[in-house]
Amino acid sequence: MPSNESHTHESIRALMTEALDGETPADVIRRKARAIVSKHRHLWTGPPFCPEALADLEGIRVEEAPCDIKGDGRIFPLDGKVFIQYAPGQCAERVRFTICHELAHTLFPDCYKRERNRSQAEKDHHEFESLCHIGAAEFLFPIDTFGPDLGQERVTASRVQELASRYKASIDATAQRIVHLQDHPACVVFAQYKPPEGKSVVSLSVLYAVPNRRFPHKIHPRMKINSKSVANRAFATKQPASAPLEHWFIVDGMKRVRTEAVPLPTFESKQTADVAIILYA
Ligand SMILES: [Zn+2]
Repeated sequence: MPSNESHTHESIRALMTEALDGETPADVIRRKARAIVSKHRHLWTGPPFCPEALADLEGIRVEEAPCDIKGDGRIFPLDGKVFIQYAPGQCAERVRFTICHELAHTLFPDCYKRERNRSQAEKDHHEFESLCHIGAAEFLFPIDTFGPDLGQERVTASRVQELASRYKASIDATAQRIVHLQDHPACVVFAQYKPPEGKSVVSLSVLYAVPNRRFPHKIHPRMKINSKSVANRAFATKQPASAPLEHWFIVDGMKRVRTEAVPLPTFESKQTADVAIILYA
């Protein structure tokens, strides 16, 4: 287990003063987020779960930012009240995620105690923001409802779409939450389309991949995706596509995986990925 000394981000160090034996920062965030959810769960119902209502129960006001805030959202205290502001012009799903993300900032004990240090090393800041994403997923897909919704089976591509619309969340956030909570080894791959060059028929390549802790393989960014993969069909038809068995050439060799590919709607285009692909090893 990493000791507190290994965390250079001030807020993560503050968070780790609350860690129970053996907990990682992500464990602390999950535990604290789940405590907030269960505290309000009798008043806060869904799916879909309204992030604004959760903020309200926490005494936090949510509003659209009146100016350019150079980001998706922010949280700050003012005159004894706490505000979350989100940038205008985002789709509803993104606004919901942004509010959850900003709410997750309050899980850090020093949330309002200091000015955000903008010059913080990028790697540190990335770790901090990833923890807020973990907290956001706990608010957007509360475990007591989303867990039973997943069931025991491997989630199919069309079920990913159903769950995304049931929870009014993006495909991206839904697929990541599913993979994280799966007992099976799974990985979500975000792929991007580029027009083929020359005679190449391969047009989808990996932007990034998010494995769960059981997934045994490593998937390289920029890896080309086989043109026979159902990922291409999902992209071309804009429909979910499944293959019970595909061969993927992964870093450590050719592997047989089950493939569930979901096209990403254009309103999620900010992420620049075109298809989300869940691989089950
Ligand atoms: Zn943040």
